[in-house]
Amino acid sequence: MKKPVTGWISLEEAIPPDIFKSEVLTWAKRIGVTPKEIHIRPMKRKWGSCSSTGRLTFNTELLKQPAEFRREVIVHELLHLKVPNHGRLFRALLQGYIEKYK
Ligand SMILES: [Zn+2]
Repeated sequence: MKKPVTGWISLEEAIPPDIFKSEVLTWAKRIGVTPKEIHIRPMKRKWGSCSSTGRLTFNTELLKQPAEFRREVIVHELLHLKVPNHGRLFRALLQGYIEKYK
């Protein structure tokens, strides 16, 4: 997921990486995917990425973002394990999960 051009302001205290990873795993279960690896590291241009081998990488800055935004990035990247593009199906599924668990 690409980072917006404008900087995001941190609204909350950063959550620990372990908590973040457990959030990712909770969502992985809901969506029915199994990420091979979950990495958290500083990224310049993206909030997260998903490799074709099932390795997910999330931007360290995400730990400081509001829960709602974090969730969107997590679901976005996890969905790529199912749908590798941003087509209609991808957008429908993303919207569905975000709505369902609001
Ligand atoms: Zn994407």
